[in-house]
Amino acid sequence: KLFNELQDLKGNIRVYCRIRPFLPTEMKKETVIENIGENGELVIINPSKPGKDGQRSFKFNKVLGPTATQEEIFSDTQPLIRTVLDGYNVCIFAYGQTGSGKTHTMAGPEGATKESWGVNYRALDDLFQISEDRNNYFQYEIAVQMVEIYNEQVRDLLSSDSSQKKYPFLILHFTHEWILCFSFQFFVFLNLRTLGILSTSHPHGLAVPDASILPVRSTSDVIEMMRIGHTNRAVGATAMNERSSRSHSIVTVHVQGTDLKTGSATRGNLHLVDLAGSERVDRSESTGDRLREAQHINKSLSALGDVIFALAQKSPHVPYRNSKLTQVLQSSLGGRAKTLMFVQINPDAASYSETLSSLKFAERVS
Ligand code: ADP
Ligand code: MG
Repeated sequence: KLFNELQDLKGNIRVYCRIRPFLPTEMKKETVIENIGENGELVIINPSKPGKDGQRSFKFNKVLGPTATQEEIFSDTQPLIRTVLDGYNVCIFAYGQTGSGKTHTMAGPEGATKESWGVNYRALDDLFQISEDRNNYFQYEIAVQMVEIYNEQVRDLLSSDSSQKKYPFLILHFTHEWILCFSFQFFVFLNLRTLGILSTSHPHGLAVPDASILPVRSTSDVIEMMRIGHTNRAVGATAMNERSSRSHSIVTVHVQGTDLKTGSATRGNLHLVDLAGSERVDRSESTGDRLREAQHINKSLSALGDVIFALAQKSPHVPYRNSKLTQVLQSSLGGRAKTLMFVQINPDAASYSETLSSLKFAERVS
C-alpha cells in the first residue's frame, strides 16, 4: 500500500544503493564512502583528491550501508514483490562490478541458510506464505523459469538438456533416461497448459517461449530448482566463476491468482536479475573471447540503461530491441510494470572509478 502511494508520486522506477562491508581479508583498506545520509544521500570521495574537491554526492530512493542485513534488504523490497499477487509485473536488478555483492543480494552467499538468504528465496517464501494465508479466497499457481544470457545467447537453465536447444520439448533421445525426461517435461507442459500459466506467446512473461517453466509449491521446491539451475550453469561454463560474472541470470516467477468467488484471474511476473559485472575491460589488454564477452556485456548494460532512462523520461520511443536482455524483459519493463535496481558498491578506495561509474549509471536511471 505504502509502496503504491510512493509510486504514484515517483513513477515506477526506484534505485537502492547497497554498499557491501569490507570482508575479513580486507580490513586495512581505505574506503570511498564519505557519508551516508538518512534519505538516500550518499557522498563518495576520490582517494587521489582528498578534501571537498574530491567529493561527489548522489541521491537515490534509499542507501543501504554495510551493516544492513539480508532481512532489512528484503523488508524494503517486500511491498513491491507482493504487488505481483495483484497482477503487476516487477523487475528487480542487481547492478555493479564483480565482487560488489550482486549475487549476495539476489541469492545470498554460497550455501546460504535461511538467515542469509537473498531476495530470490525470501521473495518466493513470502509468496507461498501469502498464498497460504489467502487460500480461502484465492488460489495461486506459481511457476518458475531460469535463464542465462551469455554473449547475447539465451540458455535455459532448467532444461534437462542445458545446452542450447531450440525445441527442448520435441527432442527425443532413445535412452531410458531421455524417455523419462521427455515424459516428465511433457507432463509438466500439459499441466501448465491446462492451468493456463503457459501460453504459447507468454503475453506478460519472459519472451523466451521455449524455456522450461516449472511449477513450484513450496520453498523446498524452489531450493531444489535453484540447485538444478546452478548446476546447469556450471556445466556449460569452462570456468564457473569467470562465466557467472560475465552472464546475466534471470529467475522469472509466474504467479496466477484465481478469485475463488468470482472465478476471475490475475497474472503477474517477478523477474529477479543478477546482471553481469559492469567493470570496464581494458581494450588494449584483452583479445579474443574475453574482448567479445566484454563487448556484449557493455552493449547489453547500456541498452538496459537506455531503456530504463527512456521509461523514466516517459519517452515515446523505448529502445527495447538493442539487446537480448531488454528484448527478453520487454513486457515487464514499462507500462504498469515496476522496476527496482540495486546498485551494488564495493567500499574499497581502489574501486573508486568503477564505483563512480556504477553510481552515475544509477543516477541516470533514477
Ligand atoms: P558479485 O556477485 O557482485 O560478483 P558477490 O555477491 O559474489 O559479488 O560478493 C563478493 C563477496 O563479498 C562474496 O564473498 C560475498 O559473500 C561478499 N559479500 C557481498 N555482500 C556482502 C554483504 N552485504 N555482507 C557480507 N558479505 C558480503
Ligand atoms: Mg555474482
